Amino acid sequence: MDNNLFDFVYRYLSQPQVWPWWVMSASIVLGIVSAWATWQVLQWRQTQRESQPKRAAKKAWHALDPEQVLVKLNASESGLAPAEVSKRQRRYGLNRLPESKSRSAILRFFGQFHNLLIYVLLIAALITYLIGHIVDSAVIVGVVLINGLIGFIQEGKAENALRAIRNMLSLQATVMRGGKQLSIAAEQLVPGDIVLLQSGDKVPADLRLLKCRNFRVQEAVLTGESLPVEKQVEAVERRVELGDRVSMAYSGTLVSSGQATGVVVASGGDTEIGLISALVAQVETLTTPLLKQLAHFGRWLTAAILLLATGTFLFGFFYRGYPMTEMFMAAVGLAVAAIPEGLPAIMTITLAIGVQRMADRHAIIRRLPAVETLGSVTVICSDKTGTLTRNEMTVGSVLTAEQSFSVSGVGYNSDGGFQCQQQAVEARNFPVLQELARAALLCNDAVLHETNGEWTLQGDPTEVALLAMALKAGLKIMPEREKWPRTDVIPFESEHRFMATLHHDHAGQGFTYIKGAPERLLEMCTKQRNGAEDGALDRDYWLEQMQALAQQGQRLLAIAIKEGGDGLRSLESDDLESGLTLLGVVGMIDPPRSEAIAAVRQCQQAGIVVKMITGDHADTAAAISSQLGLNGQGGVLAGHQIEDLSDAELRRTVGEVNIFARSSPEHKLRLVKALQANGHVVAMTGDGVNDAPALKRADVGTAMGQKGTEAAKEAAEMVLTDDNFASLAQAVVEGRTVYDNLKKSILFILPTSIGEALVIIAAVMLGEQLPITPVQILWINMITTVTLALTLGFEPSEEGIMLRPPRNPDEPLLTPLLVWRILFVSLIMLCGAFGLFLWEKWQGETIEHARTVAINTIVMFEIFYLFNSRKIEASIVNWRGVTGNRYVLLAVAILIVFQLAFTYLDALNHLFGTVAIDAEQWLPIILIAFTVLPLVEIEKLLIRVFKKPRRPT
Ligand code: ATP
Repeated sequence: MDNNLFDFVYRYLSQPQVWPWWVMSASIVLGIVSAWATWQVLQWRQTQRESQPKRAAKKAWHALDPEQVLVKLNASESGLAPAEVSKRQRRYGLNRLPESKSRSAILRFFGQFHNLLIYVLLIAALITYLIGHIVDSAVIVGVVLINGLIGFIQEGKAENALRAIRNMLSLQATVMRGGKQLSIAAEQLVPGDIVLLQSGDKVPADLRLLKCRNFRVQEAVLTGESLPVEKQVEAVERRVELGDRVSMAYSGTLVSSGQATGVVVASGGDTEIGLISALVAQVETLTTPLLKQLAHFGRWLTAAILLLATGTFLFGFFYRGYPMTEMFMAAVGLAVAAIPEGLPAIMTITLAIGVQRMADRHAIIRRLPAVETLGSVTVICSDKTGTLTRNEMTVGSVLTAEQSFSVSGVGYNSDGGFQCQQQAVEARNFPVLQELARAALLCNDAVLHETNGEWTLQGDPTEVALLAMALKAGLKIMPEREKWPRTDVIPFESEHRFMATLHHDHAGQGFTYIKGAPERLLEMCTKQRNGAEDGALDRDYWLEQMQALAQQGQRLLAIAIKEGGDGLRSLESDDLESGLTLLGVVGMIDPPRSEAIAAVRQCQQAGIVVKMITGDHADTAAAISSQLGLNGQGGVLAGHQIEDLSDAELRRTVGEVNIFARSSPEHKLRLVKALQANGHVVAMTGDGVNDAPALKRADVGTAMGQKGTEAAKEAAEMVLTDDNFASLAQAVVEGRTVYDNLKKSILFILPTSIGEALVIIAAVMLGEQLPITPVQILWINMITTVTLALTLGFEPSEEGIMLRPPRNPDEPLLTPLLVWRILFVSLIMLCGAFGLFLWEKWQGETIEHARTVAINTIVMFEIFYLFNSRKIEASIVNWRGVTGNRYVLLAVAILIVFQLAFTYLDALNHLFGTVAIDAEQWLPIILIAFTVLPLVEIEKLLIRVFKKPRRPT
């Protein structure tokens, strides 16, 4: 034995017969260095490609007049004819941005090897080769390659799944085609199409604007400028920068206010955003703060393990007097064993499985960290209409100055009629009711018509319900709209809470109809219509009547008229602030969703407070929330009351109040801030363009997929495709499940790694031969452990998952319980595997035989422990515990085949240094390995018995 290490190495390496090895080793080093260099170069090239625009600037549409643009595009304001659309679609293709170029496949493949552990392994392979263990060296390289390949495939799959989920949020566009207004998928747009835009929309293609009204667009995505830009129709200078081309609206930007009509001048990859491929290429990386933290921890762990391995090497070599080669193999084995190679991949895949599961349950994650945050949510602030309620509106009552009517018939059709004092009446005998129904029909953008008994509807359910009421009043939609054509409109926005339309008959007589939130309209009205006459507004009468309707949970909407608009061509909000005549108030029934009632209850049991933030009337909100079971002690807080409170006062009040009525997007923002200041983790729903700041501020901003604007979706972390509160609650369940499953994977993987490391350390300490060789450890860690751990990502939610309080976001992933469990199981593995190894040797078996037994014992331990790991604290000793996850059963079956091949196939015996063992040898292996199952179950039982019960607060 040579104790002088350096001398030994020098003399060994200078022998002529090892020179060919020099050449080989130099080529492996070169291989490593060139792999690293290629990776760097590929990454640099990709960055270069992304930062260069593909083509130079295009036609200066911004400098042409609208008429010239239309002529050049051979288009007109009434839109393209269907035949022309198909022709152009063939020519220009779909209006889709070029496939987002994620990291190229080669880069992704090399990326798999760009990690400290792999470098350690490759160096180990080199040295193993140098000291003559050629087969071992080849196996290490082989396993590294296979592992890289598996990682590459899995990561690709996970990225594809996430991309597919994101594509589910496809963009819609409103267009004029063949003289008709249609809503189509934005990817169907072609140059020459006429597109209508309103606040909250995402511009679907590059447009030259033809008409604008207070039109402002947020172009940060293109220009970096976060303030909205005011747009105009007039042409601008040819040479101006993109940000100053105010006669254009560019694809991907967001409309922050107003309306506009524009003609498509460029679609798909020809748009400005399509040219900047770097932006398109921005694919979200598959990571979250937790995973980053783990990766960081992993690097430290690797460094620490390398130190430990070096220490063991020195101890064995100098103190115990092991031969250097053997000690080197032990050190490599220790490093390979203790580093949990599969963990990062398993974590990423578990996360991707969770995101996929949420998408299946109507919750689309836009930003991955939200998956983790969902499990810590302590307050959910939800909209009412459509989220907690069904958004199936039916007009139930109509109030005029002299009568109160109830309206019968449910659903969006003309079935039903009016009753006054419980007598059926004809609406046409009540002129004010007629006028109110006409106003409801004209001041309305929805569509409702019947063909062959089938009712077709389009638009906001509130407006469709008003059309149904007008039909019940005997009016016909199209004839009325043709008789009183619309000259101008101020669309409804939650901020000003009314909508107004200007109409002129064919004789030029003009008037404006206004509908909106009653409190808002009462401020604007000075008169009310009494029969044929107008009288002074009796505010108290209206407030009293409205309160009675609201207390029944009806959603209120007032309708008014402003006469004398003969010469008027356009509407300004300021002109409507006074002088209106109130026609009446409509009460709508919108029942709570039954699944929302159950979901609210589920959240409350899970320690999550549900708050309703609605634009609706306080009494309506209170009535609906009592049906939903979410009334707090603090009653209802209305928007104007929120305004009267200072931030500090709001912080104090916000905890007690669960219902916020007549609140605007600014109130939502203040409420989120107040709740967060009180230490809450807040999920907030929203749909309007002005909800974006509150959604961004919330911990889990949640936009509505159906009625939500694109601006809200862009700001949100998550989108609910069915607008349903129950889906949000389900997303919380899934968020908690993903976190549990991440923990379960760690709980499963770490004991195997530590157990193996302990086996090696014990062997070195006791002066024994290694019970497992480095390549055998690689087999366990990279093949068996990963196969088994992957199944934990599919674990269904634990039964009591919504009976636990929310997770403290500051809680470390490795809680004391987890650390204890990991050590406990590692020790069981050490005793079982090392014990059986020693036993076999004492029986006089060969070292290969004893090692084969030891490895099979560890793998069997893993199989039994996998069942334990399915639940962190709950028992698995029941039918569901054993069969509840079919992936577990499948993986166990596959693994048994793997293990038999490993033990009995000649080729694998040769590669891994194993030998065939007799059939009866399996009995002690299985019996010993089985002990982990009852031991961990007893430990769980003790924990359950002695742990203080934690009830949600
Ligand atoms: P939530 O905020 O919970 O969704 P909401 O739908 O009642 O509740 P908003 O959409 O902000 O909130 O509506 C506020 C009020 O504006 C409604 O109560 C109603 O009186 C009125 N309103 C709603 N939709 C329209 C519309 N299309 N035209 C005119 N007024 C409307």
